[in-house]
Amino acid sequence: MQRITIAKGDGIGPEIMDATLQIIKAAGAQLEYDEIEVGEKVYLSGNTSGIAKESWDTIIRNKVFLKAPITTPQGGGYKSLNVTTRKFLGLYSNVRPCISLYPFVTTKHPEMDIVIIRENEEDLYAGIEHQQTDEVVQCLKLISRPGCEKIIRYAFEYAKVYGRKKVTCFTKDNIMKQTDGLFHQVFDEIATEYPEIENEHWIIDIGAAKMSDTPEAFDVIVTLNLYGDVISDIAAQIAGSVGLAGSANIGEECAMFEAIHGSAPRRAGQNMANPSGLLEGAVMMLNHIGQTEVAEKVQNAWLKTIEDGIHTYDIYNEGISTQKVGTKEFAQAVINNLGQNPSLLKSVKFAKDAVLNLPKYVRKPAANKELVGVDLFVHWNGTDPNELAEMMQNINTENRHLSMITNRGIKVWPDGFQETFCTDHWRCRFKPTEGKVLHKNDIITLLSGALDAKIDVIKTENLYEFDGKLGYSLGQGQ
Ligand code: NAD
Repeated sequence: MQRITIAKGDGIGPEIMDATLQIIKAAGAQLEYDEIEVGEKVYLSGNTSGIAKESWDTIIRNKVFLKAPITTPQGGGYKSLNVTTRKFLGLYSNVRPCISLYPFVTTKHPEMDIVIIRENEEDLYAGIEHQQTDEVVQCLKLISRPGCEKIIRYAFEYAKVYGRKKVTCFTKDNIMKQTDGLFHQVFDEIATEYPEIENEHWIIDIGAAKMSDTPEAFDVIVTLNLYGDVISDIAAQIAGSVGLAGSANIGEECAMFEAIHGSAPRRAGQNMANPSGLLEGAVMMLNHIGQTEVAEKVQNAWLKTIEDGIHTYDIYNEGISTQKVGTKEFAQAVINNLGQNPSLLKSVKFAKDAVLNLPKYVRKPAANKELVGVDLFVHWNGTDPNELAEMMQNINTENRHLSMITNRGIKVWPDGFQETFCTDHWRCRFKPTEGKVLHKNDIITLLSGALDAKIDVIKTENLYEFDGKLGYSLGQGQ
């Protein structure tokens, strides 16, 4: 018997949760429940996070959380409960299977069967943003080695345990050589540990285009947070089944399972909603806790029900569907089909104890880190980079020299183009002069020189080499 936490959420949430629990119970799930309140009522009681402190305690104690969709009230600074939960609980992996149920659910891609594994905690979603000048705001893209290792290993382990043949990595490392470059590099490293699984890398733009056109060319896709957010919605949509897809958020300790759709308030309380998305989330949960046989039984009965043409209004299609049913009747039809397999759709066979082997991250020995320069970012309202270069050279001493100025990444000094558009946000790069070593003190001297000269430095960025390897990007055009 496993104790889990459930939240029935808002809108159609309670109906689809009841249907889901009824089906998995009938299939023999060994579960006990602690129910918590999250969502609209909690938000409107004045709690901007949508969840009470005691509820966190329950989630953390039980470790497994099945959550129905909630309504986030408009305006008023309410925080997304999903984002908060993922980050608080370290749910680094978002797993979203996108499978075509053709011809029973309309899609242009009858052969599609993709699992998207999206990094869930890092990237631009760290939400670290600053306005630095009148004209320029910044969002910090943070990518870590542990973050990359954990998600990429998860993808390969998932492929191994679920009998998948290939893992594809999507990045934009032709442009972001440090951040996306690290993700790609770690992918190549970990792929060598799984020689039985094919691996490939695509640049995200053409990869996403290919996925939208020929999804059957892909199997498991692993990618960074932002790209994963975008492509997982595209994949669910082109599979024809946004309302049918479930999602798992997995961490080292805790995990949360849900439908990908929202609370559909207009359909609430009318016995209309399709419970399939949450049921698919529950199937992933059953696999996660090792109740594999129950998961398999539920999944095959659900596929059989879809194949029988017993459909809720959202997927009802005259000619294909045989019966338009409500939430309760759909759940009953799935229960009636328990123990049966679909005949046209592919039935599933989950490996016994489908448990992924995910060792704890082990920090590597520190590299030899050498300070080799500094970027001073300056708020300056002038237009001629030569003028700024002269000002910056005046605050310099003999140990360092101004090596470059860029504006929005493109080199504008020396030898810039008159045509390049410049904002009020400039990066001035200082390097040590030949034979000299740069110290942190030199940066302080530079900054105090800038202060005396009334130059508005808005941030600095140290340039390092790690074991002799460049730890920063060159200016575009450098
Ligand atoms: P939605 O997913 O609730 O609804 C989009 C459309 O799909 C609607 O026409 C709806 O009727 C239909 N639909 C969705 N799920 C269905 C189901 N199971 N059966 C039948 N029809 C279904 O998206 P929305 O309208 O943009 O958002 C409504 C609320 O849900 C908002 O408050 C939003 O913040 C919230 N939301 C919550 C989650 C979550 O909790 N994970 C996710 C997305 C949106």
